[in-house]
Amino acid sequence: MVSRCTPTFSAWSEPAAVSELTLRDLAGIGVERLKGVGEKKLASLHEVGVHTVLDLLTTYPRRWVDRTNEARVSDLEPGREALVLVAVRSVSKRIGRNRRPIVEAVVGDGSGRFHVVFFNQPWREKQFREGLQVALFGKPELYRGSLQMTNPIVDLIGDRTGRIVPIYPQSEKAQLNTWEIAGWVEDALQRCEPRGIADPVPLAVLARHGLLDRHTALRQIHLPETMAEKSEARRRLAFDELLRVQTVLVMRKRALEREARGIVHVVDGELVPRLRAALPYSLTGAQERAIAEISVDLAAPHPMHRLLQGDVGAGKTLVAVCAMLMGVQGGHQSALMAPTEVLAEQHAAGVRRLLEGVTVPDPGNLFGDRPLRVELLTNRVTGGDRRDVLSGLADGTVDIVIGTHALIQDAVSFHSLGVVVVDEQHRFGVEQRAALRAKAADGTVPDVLVMTATPIPRTAAMTVYGDLDVSVLDELPPGRTPIRTHWANGPMMEQAAWGTVREQVGEGRQAYVVCPLIDESEKLEVASAQETFERLVHDELKGLRLGLLHGRLPSSEKEAVMDAFRRGDLDVLVATTVIEVGVDVPNATVMVILDADRFGIAQLHQLRGRVGRGAHESECWLVTQQVEGSNPRVEALVESTDGFFLAEVDLDLRGEGTLMDTAQKGRSDLKLASLRRDRELVQQARAVAFELVDPDPTLEQHPLLLDEVRLLFTADDEEFLFKS
Ligand code: ADP
Ligand code: MG
Repeated sequence: MVSRCTPTFSAWSEPAAVSELTLRDLAGIGVERLKGVGEKKLASLHEVGVHTVLDLLTTYPRRWVDRTNEARVSDLEPGREALVLVAVRSVSKRIGRNRRPIVEAVVGDGSGRFHVVFFNQPWREKQFREGLQVALFGKPELYRGSLQMTNPIVDLIGDRTGRIVPIYPQSEKAQLNTWEIAGWVEDALQRCEPRGIADPVPLAVLARHGLLDRHTALRQIHLPETMAEKSEARRRLAFDELLRVQTVLVMRKRALEREARGIVHVVDGELVPRLRAALPYSLTGAQERAIAEISVDLAAPHPMHRLLQGDVGAGKTLVAVCAMLMGVQGGHQSALMAPTEVLAEQHAAGVRRLLEGVTVPDPGNLFGDRPLRVELLTNRVTGGDRRDVLSGLADGTVDIVIGTHALIQDAVSFHSLGVVVVDEQHRFGVEQRAALRAKAADGTVPDVLVMTATPIPRTAAMTVYGDLDVSVLDELPPGRTPIRTHWANGPMMEQAAWGTVREQVGEGRQAYVVCPLIDESEKLEVASAQETFERLVHDELKGLRLGLLHGRLPSSEKEAVMDAFRRGDLDVLVATTVIEVGVDVPNATVMVILDADRFGIAQLHQLRGRVGRGAHESECWLVTQQVEGSNPRVEALVESTDGFFLAEVDLDLRGEGTLMDTAQKGRSDLKLASLRRDRELVQQARAVAFELVDPDPTLEQHPLLLDEVRLLFTADDEEFLFKS
């Protein structure tokens, strides 16, 4: 069982009769108890966030030097990368051309010596004391007849022996080096030996997934005998991190399902068939699938909590409208929440268009139907209009309401809110979704469908949206002409882009020009947009009718520009990224994105989705200052219009950092696991979490796992999970 008191030094080294050490035990032992940690080193460790033995043991090496691959100096060949272990013989510093500091050293082993040169790393002079042992990794070249390595990777390994040497994150500032850390880690591990380290994962699960036990894994990640041992250890410890995240998410998901009383909706009523009969097209296979999945959820007694992922133009609106109608046809109300007022207005217009002429069977009237009532509610709806909508929501005469976060304000009460659609676009958090859920009358919880146009690779979605079920629209409606994308690398190619704009406008089409993104300042961005606009008006696009749209215009002016563009009174809309969401003009067939390399893949993909919405073939030009060389992000967009493919590329190029920023809290525990590299492990961890939680929803049978989750997750997560 979990020990609640802080273990004393002696408890730590108590013989095996006492239970195994838990992570909480380790988190209760300060690093000052370790051999060689005095006041000064303690301060250094605290500076890098290491306070407890648990912190120390989860300070994993950032690299392992495999000395079995080590070359002798006499084996070095020009042009071939190698790792050598050498001692510093001499070092000197001088100032080179362009005032760049150059540090030169002579290093060697018993078999020979060679030169090392560092540019712009002046501190190397102090670091490379004579006699210092260093591991150098780099590519030697011949320079004036002798071998030289330029800016190699340097690891200070001290006098550590062993075939695999762990290299820990060192801190010049905190004055910690890798062999000190390695020494403390070794000491800590040794003192864990008598009691052993407890494992929260059942043996059968470990065996099935080929995972090491935790104690072995901790030993092997710090002190591996081979690189293979290290990899096995990493896999197990990364699995633990992912299992904790998934356990939280799965518990939350099951808790919502268990505790919340949902509405059993009438999924085979009249309204959806009426809508479908009125459509001028048939649904895509993906839409059919998503609607079927949603109707199973809606018919069930527990509330739906589902994510609808689909690329721009995949037809999410129609799926959402079907879900809302299923709510309405059983006598309930539905709501659609958008992240901005503009988007809410656009959704309202789109939904009204779709539902034009669809009537609701009126139980008060045996012979007739009544028109469906769809209303908009944002902060711009005021006065009498607002009162009308609010009273209609309260008495149930409004069937569908579309709005912004204004919908979750306290003044809004619903007669019977049944289905909620959240158009997320990464702008809402879990808390807001929860607030909306709380809007249901009489203790029932409405069904929630979250839409996102940002495709997320499956395994990442399991973590970012791990408490939701997922439906995917991975098929575009037929008849779309794919957008041809070009990379305009440099001024010459940029002229070709303007040529295309002129050509298309000549044929009656319209174009967007997206101005450079300036993250740091909206003011600068607006200035640059204005400048671009002036330049195009007087130069490249002289004679065409241009409009300018940016975030600092008063909203009346924004509206006027947008309307003019929609009506076709403007040929070209020059805009900042304000057009990223919501603008829908099928006659626009060209988009030119300036300084495209300042945007991320996802954003470029979103922007590009503004064209290709009509019957005409569309083009997108990505302009960069860069003339030569490759540009993986721009090239990915040229290669593909598939949002899921691009999301995978994005994840590969960028890592999950940015993805995780947008995720909920409580992900700080991922030190080893990578959503990018460990896709399979994510799925395994999720499956195991379900396996453990489903028969035992409060984890009574797995107190260790429960305790770890409590220990390592943020207060917010804990509150959510454990308050009841
Ligand atoms: P999303 O919200 O996923 O970006 P929308 O719902 O706005 O996509 O749909 C984009 C366009 O495709 C709309 O004009 C819509 O009318 C149309 N559309 C949706 N479903 C189909 C379909 N099955 N066949 C043809 N066109 C469709
Ligand atoms: Mg849409």
